[in-house]
Formats: sequence, structure tokens, C-alpha cells
Amino acid sequence: MTTPTSPATRDRRGFTTEQVHAGHLADVGHAARITPIHLSAGFLFEDFAQARDRFAGDEEGYTYTRIGNPTISALERKLAALEHGAEAIAVSTGQAALSVALLGLLSAGDHLVAARTIYEGSRGLFRDNFERLGITVDFVDDVADIDAWRRAVRPETRALFGESIANPRNEVLDIPAVAGVAHAAGVPLVVDSTLATPYLQRPLELGADVVVHSASKFLAGHGAALGGVVVDGGRFDWAASGRFPHLTAPAPSLHGRSFVERHGHRAYAAFARDVVAARFGPTLSPFAAFLLQQGVETLSLRVERHTANALGVARWLAGHPAVERVDYAGLESHPHREVAARVLPRGAGSVLAFTVRGGEPAAAAFVDAVRLFSRMSHLGDVRSLVLHPASTSHGQLTETERAAMGVGGGLLRLSIGIEDLDDLIADLEPALAAATAAATAAARSQAVDATPVVPPVHHERTHAHRLAAAALGAH
Ligand SMILES: *Cc1c(COP(=O)(O)O)cnc(C)c1O
Repeated sequence: MTTPTSPATRDRRGFTTEQVHAGHLADVGHAARITPIHLSAGFLFEDFAQARDRFAGDEEGYTYTRIGNPTISALERKLAALEHGAEAIAVSTGQAALSVALLGLLSAGDHLVAARTIYEGSRGLFRDNFERLGITVDFVDDVADIDAWRRAVRPETRALFGESIANPRNEVLDIPAVAGVAHAAGVPLVVDSTLATPYLQRPLELGADVVVHSASKFLAGHGAALGGVVVDGGRFDWAASGRFPHLTAPAPSLHGRSFVERHGHRAYAAFARDVVAARFGPTLSPFAAFLLQQGVETLSLRVERHTANALGVARWLAGHPAVERVDYAGLESHPHREVAARVLPRGAGSVLAFTVRGGEPAAAAFVDAVRLFSRMSHLGDVRSLVLHPASTSHGQLTETERAAMGVGGGLLRLSIGIEDLDDLIADLEPALAAATAAATAAARSQAVDATPVVPPVHHERTHAHRLAAAALGAH
């Protein structure tokens, strides 16, 4: 799988080596091999001068965990290394990471252009909170329509936002093309890369400026902790853009210097960390940081297995008569297959959607029939999960909005875990049979409703069961 290259031609260690070793904090006290959990609200100052210098930023070191903590810093260094970024800021959740990343860029009166098919929590954040703060948001319906991104940009636009792979239907962001639109407008592209992970894609290398993750998902993998991270590429030229006065004008917290004067190309990361994250306060617990870094150490191994399993499941579903459609960017049938091959060469991840024949009654029967898959609102877990978006994550939308996003009654989202593929299929097979039976029964009872003479219920049941059995025999 990995071909050894001669040491002379390698400028970096490989991904799997980095995920294990990067960022590790040597324990000077006891030589613990694993980065210790520093569960301490604050840190001692040796004397008056040290307290003053640490606060002024003239001396490296910790003061208070909301501002910085050694366990959290170790995780941040690891994630910055994996994304090939300049700096990472770890916070309490993925939603917090999005808030910090975007509020580090946007002020009242500014405008954000975002893909429409993003995570519902993010859409709610923009629509219900940003709008209230005076930040207007326009959504691009078709992420693949680069002209639509261009048309959505206004003079007040200050950022473009999209997801590497969107959920549930696997729209793939053409990062080089959308970054081109952003840079032509003098603004950065922010990418939520939760579903891709740095193992499948490094958005910064494709032209994005800032990457955001919900670390609660694949980065953790164990599903035991929430977290989020903002990774700054450190390459966007804030001064040249001239559109970000909070970074280029004299700042009160820097005694009249600007963030750009003080931090150069890392001005944005410094502002997002010291002004946005530290002041709004979504601090990651050092304990959660420890759990997240435990997860990241095995990321590449998990994602390889996740992705191989997902492709296996997607192909199997696509060949099943009870399945109307499969939305997985790793399949030839996906409309973004060509973009995926370019920006996701290692595979399209393991969150996919499929539509069962028979609409919501069939989907409900499927959800109730699974035994190995967990019914759960989460993804990127080592366990395989299933969710019915139309009645859960997308339940607050109108029918028309759901239709525009392709979230129908028969649509189911799977997050494929690392279990043995045969066991996953052995769980899906009877669940699809249950879906078919429910669809047949629903179709029968509709037909009965339309008939003036209503036959006895037990007869109908028997008939529905016979039809279901016939349908089962079909494959
Ligand atoms: C889960 C998720 C989030 C939110 O992350 P939390 O850790 O749950 O706050 C944001 N974006 C995407 C793509 C997600 O899957």
C-alpha cells in the first residue's frame, strides 16, 4: 500500500508516523510515554515578572486553560502537522470550531457564501445566529456550479464556505475551483473537512485557507468525546486583501499594533485563538483532548478500513432490487465522481446515503430491523450507524426544502464502521427485506383504502405477507 521512498527524497515523515508521533509532549516530570492529561485550571507563575511576561505574550508558557493547556496544545500540534497547516486551534465541539473559524473572519455587515448542502447544524448556526449578528449568508444550491459561487459573491463577502464531502448525499467540493473564486474576490475559502479527514484530503494543499473539523467524528473514532479544530494554512495575505480591518488596524489588545504587524501571515490564527476562542470561551477539556489524541493515533488505519467497507456496502446496495439509488462519491454513478477522483484520490470516505423503494414506511422498517448497525445521530464512529435524515436531522425543514436537498422519505444515511464487511451485509440484507415487506404492505393498504368494499383485515394481512414473501424471493 505504501511504497517506501528513499530517505533523501522524503521531506516529511509519512501520515501514519505523524499521526502517532507529531505534537507529543515530553513529560519532563516522570517521562510518561503518553502525553499526560493536564487537568489544571491554571498554571503557577514563578514570580511577579513571569506572570507579567506571560500575560504580555513576551514569554512562552501557560497561564490559564481557557487560553492554553499543554494537553490541548499537543493535540493542536498533531492536527496542524496532519493537515500541513501552520497552526491549529482545538475547541470543545465541531460547532464551536465553525463559530470560531468564521467569527474570526466575519463582522456585522459582512456576507458569507456557503454551500446549501452543508451539515444542518452549520446551516442553523449561519441562518439563526449569524443573521441575527448582522452577518448575511447566501447558499449556493449546486456546489459543482462554479459560476453560481462566483455570482453569489458581493462586495461585502468576506469568506466562502463548503464541506469536502457533504452529508448525506456526498456532494464533493471542487476545492481548487472554489478557492479560485474566493481568491479572485480577495477572501479566504473555509472548508469543513470532517467527512474526509486529513488522511483522505488536505484541503490546504488544494487551495483552501482554513480547515475545520468536528473532531467528535473520525478524528476521535471511538465516539467517546466531542471536540473541534480550526487549522489555519498561514498563507492567506490579510494585508494585501485589505478586507479584514480587525486584523490590519491597530488592536487594543496589542497596545495599538495590528495582528498582522505582530503575527504576519498568522494574524488570523492569533486573532481566532486569542480574541475569538479565548473570549467566547468554548474551551476543550484537557480530558477530551487526551481522548481525541488517542483516536487520532490510529486515524489512517481506521479510515482505510472505513473507506474499503463503504465501497463494498455501496456496491452491494447499488445491486440490490430494494434500493432505488445510492449516493456515494466512490461509485461511478455519482455525479461528482470526476471531482472526487481528483480531490479524494484515496477514496470517498464512509458516510453515504441510499434510497429504499417504498418511501418512509420502508425506511422506517429498515431502521427498526437493523441489529448490528446502531440507530444514532453521529458519524465517523468505528461502529456502523444508520439515520433517517427526513425525520431527524432534516426534520425541521419544509417538504420543499428537503426536496431541494434530495432528502426524501426513503433516504437513509449510513456511516460505515470498521467491522467485517460480511457482517455488515448480513445485517443490511434482512433489513432491506423488512423494508420491502413494509413497502408492499403500505401499497396494499393504499389500494384497499381506494376500494369501496373493504375486505377483512386478517385477509389483507395474509395477502400483504404473501406479496412481501414473493418480493423477498425476488433476490
Ligand atoms: C458533526 C458535524 C459538525 C458538528 O460537530 P460537533 O462536534 O457535533 O459540534 C460539523 N460539521 C460536520 C460535517 C459534522 O459532521
